[in-house]
Amino acid sequence: MTAPLPEAIKTALEAGQKAGLAATGGKNADYIPFLASVPSNLFGIAVVTADGRVFKTGDADYQFAIESISKVFTLALVIDQIGPNALREKVGADPTGLPFNSVMALELHGGKPLSPLVNAGAIATASLVPGKDAEACWAAILDCQSRFAGRKIALSNDVNTSEQTTNFHNRAIAWLLYSSGSCYSDPMRAVDVYTRQCSTLVSAADLATMGATLANGGVNPVTGERVIGDDKTAPILAEMTMEGLYTASGDWAFTVGLPGKSGVGGGILAVVPGELAIASFSPPLDPAGNSVRGMAAVTAVAKSLGRNLYRPRS
Ligand code: GLN
Repeated sequence: MTAPLPEAIKTALEAGQKAGLAATGGKNADYIPFLASVPSNLFGIAVVTADGRVFKTGDADYQFAIESISKVFTLALVIDQIGPNALREKVGADPTGLPFNSVMALELHGGKPLSPLVNAGAIATASLVPGKDAEACWAAILDCQSRFAGRKIALSNDVNTSEQTTNFHNRAIAWLLYSSGSCYSDPMRAVDVYTRQCSTLVSAADLATMGATLANGGVNPVTGERVIGDDKTAPILAEMTMEGLYTASGDWAFTVGLPGKSGVGGGILAVVPGELAIASFSPPLDPAGNSVRGMAAVTAVAKSLGRNLYRPRS
């Protein structure tokens, strides 16, 4: 397999820009008040290759709230510590088929979240981060996000305050998890840590670097640092395939064929194992909570590069 040439990536970014601009509609998330205030017309795309080359276009350096994309990296931290089998047993490895904040999904499965990439499973995963208190867990998560990104990632106090003062639904989920034995720390500590992990600021270029670290078997291709064990990336990418875009994950696998992850801040990330990652940022979301423009852009970039996991390549 030959790595894509710079010209091919530049052409793909142009195709992504064009497809993204043509995709209209959607609406900023507003259940977290801060997110409603982010300018809706911001739009950027970035590609980072598994050999550390960075390509970007538009607002690819604008920093926005990572939101649910953080779930992937806390999952990475926990899988690296306790191993994929323990994670699968304690949290799960199946799609829920229901929205990301669904309480019904928990009720239907005896209180087991099934996926670490829905809110319930991400809160359960946050409860598995080793550390004597919330501050220690939070420090480990922030350090993990930073090592994936190859720079010091920081919390946005504005985003965090906006979430911590409105996250009542997630707190209810945490108590339900606790009642069924699927929350492995104090539930309010788990929600606090989870809420903070969603409130850090990243750019599309950061996300693409974080994804390229997964594409590169756990070594950040820009800094050269090994972030997680090389046997840990496959189960993470499998979880992304099953639940990364929530109820649209099946459509995404069918049409794009790459593990992906979205966040209600407008970010979206897709990974081509062994090769590269594609990230986009644009705030307006569809009803499932996925960036309308971002999905169109990433789809077009992947198509232009001819990358789809399910299609044989020579
Ligand atoms: N912090 C958000 C929440 O808990 C993240 C959701 C998302 O990005 N889908 O609702």
